[in-house]
Amino acid sequence: MTAADESPTPSDAAQVVIIGAGPAGLTAAHELGKRGATCTVLEADTVVGGISRTVERDGWRFDIGGHRFFTKVPEVEARWKEILPDDFIRTPRLSRILYRGKLFDYPLKAGNALKSLGVLEAIRCLLSYVWVRLRPPRDQTNFEGWTASRFGWRLYRIFFKTYTEKVWGVPADQITADWAAQRIKNLSLTKAVWRAIFPGRGKTDITSLIDEFDYPKLGPGQMWERCTELVTAAGSEVVFDAAVARIERDGGRATTVHAADGRSFPCSAVISSMPLGELVLTMDPPAPAEVQAAAKGLTHRDHLLVALVVPEAFTFPDNWIYVHEPGVLVGRVQNFGSWSPHMVKEGRTCLGLEYFVFEGDELWASSDEELVDLGAEELARIGLVTDPSVVEAGYVTRMSKAYPTYDEHYAANVDVCRAWLATEAANVHPVGRNGMHRYNNQDHSMVTALRTVDNLFGDHHDVWAVNVEEEYHEETRVLTEVPTVPTGTGRSAPIIPRRD
Ligand SMILES: Cc1cc2nc3c(=O)[nH]c(=O)nc-3n(C[C@H](O)[C@H](O)[C@H](O)COP(=O)(O)OP(=O)(O)OC[C@H]3O[C@@H](n4cnc5c(N)ncnc54)[C@H](O)[C@@H]3O)c2cc1C
Repeated sequence: MTAADESPTPSDAAQVVIIGAGPAGLTAAHELGKRGATCTVLEADTVVGGISRTVERDGWRFDIGGHRFFTKVPEVEARWKEILPDDFIRTPRLSRILYRGKLFDYPLKAGNALKSLGVLEAIRCLLSYVWVRLRPPRDQTNFEGWTASRFGWRLYRIFFKTYTEKVWGVPADQITADWAAQRIKNLSLTKAVWRAIFPGRGKTDITSLIDEFDYPKLGPGQMWERCTELVTAAGSEVVFDAAVARIERDGGRATTVHAADGRSFPCSAVISSMPLGELVLTMDPPAPAEVQAAAKGLTHRDHLLVALVVPEAFTFPDNWIYVHEPGVLVGRVQNFGSWSPHMVKEGRTCLGLEYFVFEGDELWASSDEELVDLGAEELARIGLVTDPSVVEAGYVTRMSKAYPTYDEHYAANVDVCRAWLATEAANVHPVGRNGMHRYNNQDHSMVTALRTVDNLFGDHHDVWAVNVEEEYHEETRVLTEVPTVPTGTGRSAPIIPRRD
């Protein structure tokens, strides 16, 4: 019998080592505690929450990009309320697109867009649409050709090109059309023109865009800080500054997890939320060359937040604004005062400028001072403040591996890593977002952790089926999607090319 054929038994839960104190790792630890088992959580960083942390600087609290608590999974909803019974607030939801000083509805409505662009620009856009019907782009297999063929070049350049390229860091004609086909739905120019001529039906105003969502009053980090308290109260340990560097294995199973500083932790099972490729590369004895190549092929897009404190006069009702203004690098601006009044101080708000980057690129390598200056200058350039000098303080957070990249090889690479782990390290269980190289939000990251713990106690869930089989669309999203949205199926997500 190979290790893969063995059914996990409760003894697998005897000495569990969890890698990562983000939502997935801490949920696994919490669930183990509820079942009377203890574990050791190894966290590379000095704080909990992973990408869902809330950063605190000088009393200001901000997320790595705002984190809504939204789920269609009742068991996750219940777990959130169990961990934080008294600290959720209902936050009004509003986000719009900023383009040439004007705010457009998001999700984008073609009628609203044409109206807000003004008569002249709307006519140009419609003519451009007619032109593209007569002369469609030759290559429609990429994002640019696909989108321009459906909306005309002008609307494509205004509402699709800039943001998409900022998010992925590659030209839109190198992104495959799959992403556009998946993301851009329910948007018809014909209908929009009809509504423009016969206004009234289907008309939207700001209030119709406002909705509500749950949010811990001190940010998502509050959830994971509280969860850590519960986990340690149940007898488990969370070890900080413990970056896992090597996993010793024997007979198709992991035996000891080693941190970079030499501390070692014997294990009966490992639940891992560290990036899947890195997990495979920590194995000792090492995986064969072709498996290592697949592991190295799993890449990510990184994220940088510049949080700027400004007087309350510059606040706005949106939780965030998508920046489609040409000539600036910032992709979105969060207003943390609109997420929770408890995150900001009297008379001020905190605006978080999101930059989509590659670790080590020019922006990433800039000093914090340079980034704060850049943020203040761009904020003024797009008109959200009158002058860079109104910025009273600034803080920078760099988050590597914020987005798993879905390139043309990623699915095959994931399969290779997964298959190898299943036979050669059968008691190592990948969970979460980077852990499975999948756009899992907090809720699905948590579900993968819960099902994995079930399996340690004898169940046989296919954890890789979470967030694949069910249809999970929070809303019909059109245009300008950010890559944080869970995908309906494994293959329907953005497919972007490998970075050279
Ligand atoms: C900009 C942005 C906005 C988002 N918005 C939302 C939202 O609105 N709602 C929502 O639900 N989700 C949102 N998400 C997704 C959410 O952040 C993730 O789903 C969630 O944090 C994934 O949890 P995780 O535990 O799998 O991974 P992570 O949060 O990545 O945590 C993994 C942990 O493992 C640690 N680690 C990594 N390597 C090692 C190692 N070698 N040794 C030890 N520890 C290690 C890391 O330090 C980290 O703490 C957003 C993500 C981004 C990038």
